[in-house]
Amino acid sequence: PQRPRRHSRQVTLRHTVDGVEHETKIGGGAPITVQSMTTGKTHDVEGCLAEVRELAEAGADVVRVAVPRPEDADALSAIVAGSPVPIVADIHFNHTYALKALEAGVAKVRINPGNIGKPEWEREVLRAAKDKGVPIRIGVNGGSLEKDILDKYGYPRPEALVESALRHAEVCDREDFQDVVISVKHSDVYFMIQSYRLLAEQTDYPLHLGVTESGSMKTGPIKSSIGIGSLLADGIGDTIRVSLAADSVNEVKVGHQILKSLRLGRPGVNVIACPTCGRLAGDLFSVVDEVEEAVAKRGFERDLNVALMGCAVNGPGEAAGADLGVSLGRGRAHVFKKGEIVGTVDQDEIADAVIDLIERWDEPAAS
Ligand code: SF4
Repeated sequence: PQRPRRHSRQVTLRHTVDGVEHETKIGGGAPITVQSMTTGKTHDVEGCLAEVRELAEAGADVVRVAVPRPEDADALSAIVAGSPVPIVADIHFNHTYALKALEAGVAKVRINPGNIGKPEWEREVLRAAKDKGVPIRIGVNGGSLEKDILDKYGYPRPEALVESALRHAEVCDREDFQDVVISVKHSDVYFMIQSYRLLAEQTDYPLHLGVTESGSMKTGPIKSSIGIGSLLADGIGDTIRVSLAADSVNEVKVGHQILKSLRLGRPGVNVIACPTCGRLAGDLFSVVDEVEEAVAKRGFERDLNVALMGCAVNGPGEAAGADLGVSLGRGRAHVFKKGEIVGTVDQDEIADAVIDLIERWDEPAAS
């Protein structure tokens, strides 16, 4: 069934690969994009590009790079030229870096217009962005709110984040600049969810979702799944970034898994597995690892549920209910397609059998 989504405006990220211009849309019903950020120095062009490519290969739709120094701003044109995906320049305060980034051809700039300093600098950046058709992301963070807002609310509560975001949006409005995406990230998952809900009621700008400083691979995916997932389940959110203190490739993988879990992702194979219990009749964990790895390697673009079940008690029912199913039984396994048993294989042949059936999905079952 169609999942209702919050109505939002649409912005367009433009980038050119091998002379061909591509557009990535955010908001307005466009597919939800997965973003990540490089962790190395941006001015190390080769290193940065290697990271960008690795993230793109893992499925990142958009990659952000930090621009804290002049040499980083100078490196942007080479990074944009060599990147297979749209590049976002992440800039704090410095309007000259923003102007350089726009000149370099970045697809989006993350900067908070109200923090740029002087009104003429704000104007200069917003006019340059408008001229180039480049969107701006207003990125408000619970940990770096303006002092007067913090004084007013006492602590970074949702109302404070939303007030800050709308203040920056007003600066854009004054320049008649509406090509805006907003994030109101918080390290507290509950506050993060409330902040976005409040913001979603008050604007129709597309929203970039994220739980900030969510931690390592142990805690980050859980916090991000709760925060980002709760909002997406309500139809809120147009692009996501999972922040992890771990290899950024994991951010992309977890991001896609969140989308997939809500059936909001790209078409693909969804692997379901039973948790196992005392009835387990084989080594299901190895089977799950093998199947997941084989499926990820092939990158199938067909929406299929594959159920891997550990025994013949509950297994066959679940397996038969999925598009493809496997039910273990004493070292052997029944393989189901659309509820019908289509074969029996040894445990170590399961992954191959599943891949084979996915590859030949359109062929009629042998009678
Ligand atoms: Fe246990 Fe079988 Fe259910 Fe798996 S399918 S949890 S092994 S009863």
